[in-house]
Order: sequence, then C-alpha cells, then structure tokens
Amino acid sequence: MNVPFLNVGATYTSLRGELDEATARVLASGWYLLGRELEAFEQEYARYVGARFCVGVANGLDALQLSLRARGIGPGDEVIVPSNTYIATWLAVTQVGATPVPVEPDEDTYNIDPARIEAAVTARTRAVLPVHLYGQPANMTAIVEIARRHGLFVLDDAAQAHGARVDGQRVGSVGDATAWSFYPGKNLGAFGDGGAITTNDEELATRLRVLRNYGSRVKYVNDVQGYNSRLDEIQAAVLRVKLAHLDAWNARRAQIAARYLDALRGTDLVLPVVADGMEPVWHLFVVRTRQRGQLQRQLQERGVQTLIHYPIPPHLQEAYASLGLPKGTFPISERVHDEVLSLPMDPHMTDEQVEYVIAQTLDALRGQLQGK
Ligand SMILES: *Cc1c(COP(=O)(O)O)cnc(C)c1O
Repeated sequence: MNVPFLNVGATYTSLRGELDEATARVLASGWYLLGRELEAFEQEYARYVGARFCVGVANGLDALQLSLRARGIGPGDEVIVPSNTYIATWLAVTQVGATPVPVEPDEDTYNIDPARIEAAVTARTRAVLPVHLYGQPANMTAIVEIARRHGLFVLDDAAQAHGARVDGQRVGSVGDATAWSFYPGKNLGAFGDGGAITTNDEELATRLRVLRNYGSRVKYVNDVQGYNSRLDEIQAAVLRVKLAHLDAWNARRAQIAARYLDALRGTDLVLPVVADGMEPVWHLFVVRTRQRGQLQRQLQERGVQTLIHYPIPPHLQEAYASLGLPKGTFPISERVHDEVLSLPMDPHMTDEQVEYVIAQTLDALRGQLQGK
C-alpha cells in the first residue's frame, strides 16, 4: 500500500461539480479581481471565525507583512516571534524592516511559551506574533494579557489553524489581527496562492484594504505607497465552496489524530499534547524521536510518506546569517527541529490507510528496539 503525506487533488475530485460551477461562474462573469466573490468570501469567512472584518490578500506572508505595516511597525521596532516556526513568520517582520526577537516554545505543545515572553520585552517591542503551529492554538489568553500590560499589538499567524478554538472561541478574533494562508496544502486551501486577515478593528481593516490595492481608496488616487496583494475572484469562489466543508474535514482530521494517539501511546514516540481548553485542527500530526532518520527511511520503504516540519530553524538558515544567532542560541527549538516527524494527515485518507500507517510505524519501532 502507498500512503501519500497529503493528496491535495482529492479536494477537487470530491467536490468537482460544485467547484466547476464556481470557477465557470467567475470565468463567464468577465470580472476577476476585487469583485463579488471576494466580498462574499470575506463576509462568510469573517462570520465563520467570529470576527467583524476579513480582508483577502495574495498569500499568508502578505497577510502577516501588511498587518505589521498597517500598524506602522518598521525599522527600529522589535517583534516577538517563536524560535520555531515556518520562516514566513520571521520574513514578515524583516520585510517591514523590524527586528524579530525569538522566544522559545513550550516543549509539549511546540507553541511560544508565554512564560518566556515577558523577559523578551524591551522599550522597542511593538508586537507579539504567536503562531498556532501544526494547528494547535497558542496560549492566547496568557499572550493577550501580557501584550495588554505592555501595550503590544497581537498578530497571530493562523496559517495552520483554520477552525481551531481557544476556550470555545475560534482563532481569528482573539488577537488584534489574525493572518491566514490559503496555500493549497492548508486546512482551507485555494487552487493557488491566497491569504486573508481577520480583525475586529475597523480602522486596521480599512488600512489593509488600501494597502493591498496600491494604496488607493478611489481608482487612480493613491493615499499611501501601497502594494498589489489581492485574493482573486477565482480563488475566492473556490474558497467559498471549500469553506462549507471545512468543519467536516477538520472533524475527520481529529478522528485520524485520535486513532494515531490511541494506537501509538506506550511507544517511544513523543506524541502531540493538547493543552487545556484548546481545540486543535490537526494541520499536522507531529511525533518526536531521536531515531527520526531511521524511522522516516523505514516508513518510506513501506510506502508511507512522512515530512519534517521543519528541518532547519529560522535562526540557522543562511537567510538569517546576518542576525548572528549561532547554533546553541535556541536549544529547545534546535532539539525539536532535530527530532520532529509528521505522519500522513489528510481528511481524505481511508481507514485502511490510517491503520496501515499505524501498523508500519509500530513495526518499524519494534525493529528499532531489536536492533539496539
Ligand atoms: C504557510 C504558512 C505561512 C505562509 O503562507 P503563504 O500563503 O505560503 O505565504 C505563514 N506562516 C505559517 C506558519 C505557515 O504555515
């Protein structure tokens, strides 16, 4: 049997009729940017996450970057970021000319550790940028409380957390602004690039609408030096169709995660931990082992595709050599990056595929034990 890590095309084949209708409607309309589909999607997504406003943009990185710009964050400012995250989180900060100040994660949840945030706050700190990594919500209650005390902007990176809840409240209106990616492999993915910001702050939403469209409110009148960063009509129409299925897909992910957790408990693998009050959406199912390379190879030989999220922490990337943060600066993040492995996680996996992944993993672990 072969189990791919993720079958992105399955969302199309499973919803072909609805998706063909939606894309054909846009193509026939003769209107492809900043139109009715985007407006409708923005309303529907804002309602879904429980925020007052949603602003569609070109991708998740722009959602982060434009939010920082809309808040006037730039050179001389510091933004607190997780030491372990996808590099886009850091890139948004450096793109606006600000300085990322990394904070180590809680080793159980892999999310930024609120207890370490306060020590990283300086007179230059303007914002904190938590990430809901792997679909597990960060500890927003603690983070927002610290941010309020220091007057910091809370921008949460929810690129992996569509539909997740913190104490019953959906991610998307808990921070001051929430950035979303609709990259095809996310829980809610377009057929190309896409992103959005949700917020309850009307002024921020208005600034973002201006920034995404050349700094213009009225055509050919430019108030600020803006950007071209728009969520196009075809992607918006596709996302409207898929949004109606997001809860069902997330429920299936949770079912798969529950099965993995149950079957792999008692092995040497470090399993995901869900913190109190959190409802994750299992963008990824990440286990940890010192024998990662061996386990990945063994699973690959048995037709089970796994991935590593992520192999190199941002501070050790060549791209950030200029920050001068050598190996050993963030030991928790470095250890996590050396040991994590993501098992296949896709709402379209069959029960047979899930059981095959479990059986092969258990078998590989038993083999490792005997080989010791
Ligand atoms: C995917 C992702 C992004 C960037 O989204 P794009 O749409 O690819 O620009 C940002 N942050 C995290 C945590 C992500 O997983």
